[in-house]
Amino acid sequence: MPALDDILQQKLSVFEAKRQKRALKATGRGAGVKVRRDGRELVSFSCNDYLGLTHHLQVIAAAKEALEKYGAGAGASRLVTGNYPLYDELEAALAAYKGAEATCIFGSGYLANIGTIPALVGAGDLILADKFIHACIYDGARLSGATVMRFAHNNLEHCRMLLEANRGEHHYCLILTETVFSMDGDRAPLEALKILAKEFDSWLMVDDAHGFPSTRKGEGIIEMGTLSKAVGSYGGYVCGSKTLVEYLKTAARSLIYSTALPPATVAASIAALKMMAKEPELLAKPLQHARHFTALLGMKPAQSAIVPVILKDNDKVLAASALLEEKGFLVAAIRPPTVPEHTARLRFAFSALHEAAQIEAVANIVKEIMQIL
Ligand SMILES: *Cc1c(COP(=O)(O)O)cnc(C)c1O
Repeated sequence: MPALDDILQQKLSVFEAKRQKRALKATGRGAGVKVRRDGRELVSFSCNDYLGLTHHLQVIAAAKEALEKYGAGAGASRLVTGNYPLYDELEAALAAYKGAEATCIFGSGYLANIGTIPALVGAGDLILADKFIHACIYDGARLSGATVMRFAHNNLEHCRMLLEANRGEHHYCLILTETVFSMDGDRAPLEALKILAKEFDSWLMVDDAHGFPSTRKGEGIIEMGTLSKAVGSYGGYVCGSKTLVEYLKTAARSLIYSTALPPATVAASIAALKMMAKEPELLAKPLQHARHFTALLGMKPAQSAIVPVILKDNDKVLAASALLEEKGFLVAAIRPPTVPEHTARLRFAFSALHEAAQIEAVANIVKEIMQIL
């Protein structure tokens, strides 16, 4: 048998041939939307810190205070001794912000999904998931052992068809979607899905990673999300009924068997939520900026702070991203398997801190790129 490294090298060359090999690049972020990469300063349209809260002075001050008071780490799982007092404060603040009865904080959004879904359904149950859900929702679904079927993106008819054909043979049924889709920026038809779920005696769970901060928890919907995007810190959450949260604290393995978040991180989230609650104008800005961009390019008005410019071809997208970088803009090239084949795209994420001139400049370059590529 060949050596492990030889086998891995072979696998890497397959990725390389498909232009799917990934590499990490050292990227320094300061306050604002600029980042430093390879010694150059770039205006970033690829950070998920939609409100610029990662560097907010009050957020940093709260994190420092918690670091000094509680130390650098939690020391154990929340279920053992890691549940320092800031957790209660964050869970109460988040439940209030979301209009939910209760919330449970997890180590990350990824951990929230892979812990919650298998706690709710298992073998003999059915999961119906939107085709475009985030990889970690899908991982949670697979880990559960339930039968997983995917319906065409935002396609209620297809979802209904799958329910009609399969609901009867399964015990419980969970429908999975996102409020705002991470790579497309469009929104799920939540009200219609809720009605469908009710009709077929199913539960509806939504991932609000990119809808936060503008969405409140929908009645009768299980919601999860992350504190690593608009909230600017780190950690995941699930919100729902008191019973759901109590159950997850007993049954979600990714909560039980993983160390609690560092105290500074939890303190940063609490401070960020306070800012968000008192600055509605700040919350509205990312979408306004995204709409400015779509208007400049003659595209359909943005539905969220995320705007994809789909160029289809992997090589084209890499070339476009490199051109943008040459001109001082960082815009991620998103390729399969993160998105379906032949839908490679530039993904723009707008921050409250972008300036109109930066948006206009990047839109002009995109227009030029579309003509030459
Ligand atoms: C980023 C993201 C996650 C994962 O959240 P983390 O806190 O970064 O682990 C989950 N779902 C969606 C839709 C995301 O975009």
